[in-house]
Amino acid sequence: MITKEQLKIKPGKLFIDGKWVDSVSSKTFSTINPATEEVITTVAEGDKGDINLAVVAARKAFEDGPWRKTDARDRGKILLKIMELVEKNKEELARLETLDNGKPISETTAADLPLIVDCLLYYAGWPDKIHGETIPVRGEFLNYTIREPVGVVGQIIPWNFPLLMAVWKIAPAIACGNTMVLKPAEQTPLTALRFGEICQEAGLPDGVLNIVPGYGPTAGAALAEHMDVDKIAFTGEYITGRLIMKAASRNLKRVSLELGGKSPNIVFADSDMDSAVNGAMTGIFFNQGEVCCAGSRLFLEKSIHDEFIDKLSNKASSLRVGNPEDSSTQMGAQVSKEQFDKILGYIDSGKQEGAKLVTGGERFGDKGYFIRPTIFDEVNNNMKIAREEIFGPVVSTITFDDINEVTRQSNLSIYGLAAAVWTKDIKKAHKLARDLKAGTIWINTYNTFDAGSPFGGFKQSGFGRELGIHSLELYTQIKSVWINLGT
Ligand code: ADP
Repeated sequence: MITKEQLKIKPGKLFIDGKWVDSVSSKTFSTINPATEEVITTVAEGDKGDINLAVVAARKAFEDGPWRKTDARDRGKILLKIMELVEKNKEELARLETLDNGKPISETTAADLPLIVDCLLYYAGWPDKIHGETIPVRGEFLNYTIREPVGVVGQIIPWNFPLLMAVWKIAPAIACGNTMVLKPAEQTPLTALRFGEICQEAGLPDGVLNIVPGYGPTAGAALAEHMDVDKIAFTGEYITGRLIMKAASRNLKRVSLELGGKSPNIVFADSDMDSAVNGAMTGIFFNQGEVCCAGSRLFLEKSIHDEFIDKLSNKASSLRVGNPEDSSTQMGAQVSKEQFDKILGYIDSGKQEGAKLVTGGERFGDKGYFIRPTIFDEVNNNMKIAREEIFGPVVSTITFDDINEVTRQSNLSIYGLAAAVWTKDIKKAHKLARDLKAGTIWINTYNTFDAGSPFGGFKQSGFGRELGIHSLELYTQIKSVWINLGT
């Protein structure tokens, strides 16, 4: 096991133009281990001045640096090298993520890191396959298109999958030839900074990736409103998404938003119950419920309700909550005091609105931001705990009688990020895959991801699709070229 001392946590600096620098203001902030409430280290606090410097560096690297002339295939090679270095350092990265975020090491090791490596591998294969087309236009002309990078891209990411969210944005942006300014979440800046070092070691030219930790309303807002940023990619809360759009409108920069969810997880009586119970567990307790596509509204068909709740609550109450660094831990700490308080507030609201608390509903231990896996039953869709995103290990169970009713109720949400259906009836499965308003539909599975498959939201869960070929749309723009072949 790597000790804290062996972790390569440098005094936290900003990464701008290939150099590790203090913030213009010399301010720093602490990053906390949510499992112990202790300070891990301090990090330079970026603000408007630092964002300006980072954007200047990214612009210079885009317009004048070697990046523009780097062959597409060589961009792929750099991504492969980054991937190799991530693999080489995966234990350290997993440990650092667990320390900073509070998620169990078993999950950072088995989920975050493999998904990160796969995402880098996937986009490493793209650069030399991104191209335009020739178009059979009318008249004596040759018309073709060039698919060009968008330019300087601002990327603002959340704290729930810190490095994975960074890589979802950085890998396709590199594949398409953009330059970037990344602002990690203030709660979890460490793996992004370490990733900056890895990118440098892999030969990514100076200024292509700049990393500026800082707070949302200062550093984040400065990036979103910056007049020389061509595109902003954001993952976070829908309310912040609105602010980002507004700020981005200053220079009409392109925007893609991956926001929250209140995803329905629908279990029919004809499903394989044990698989569905496991799916409900993964759906809500994976990553302490701090997942934008968490299955936070669990719809159970009436005839199986009692048995299902019994099985689910037995499993939930025996989940091993505790020290995230212990490899047998199944649920770690919530990321911050703020998040911890917010979740407990929702639990109170569920009780007050008359939902039935089946298990959990309180903190675990007396140190660290741990919350017991919590199941509410007898919830209706109008309760706050069924409408608002809790972003914690709290599931709201709603009973239903028929497919039309459950479809209608599932779609009664401002969100539309994901939905899952458990049934052996192929007709029901496909009907719901068609009728549910969500960007991802899982049938007899939950929280399944692949770098090649698009992810993003309907309705107020955002727009634009990350991953797969779809991310290339976000990070490129099309130029149409006309050549007169006539006289
Ligand atoms: P959460 O409440 O879960 O932290 P946020 O949407 O507030 O979700 O945070 C996601 C990311 O957005 C973080 O990096 C945060 O610093 C950033 N952020 C928060 N507020 C703003 C803002 N006004 N402008 C730009 N970025 C912001």
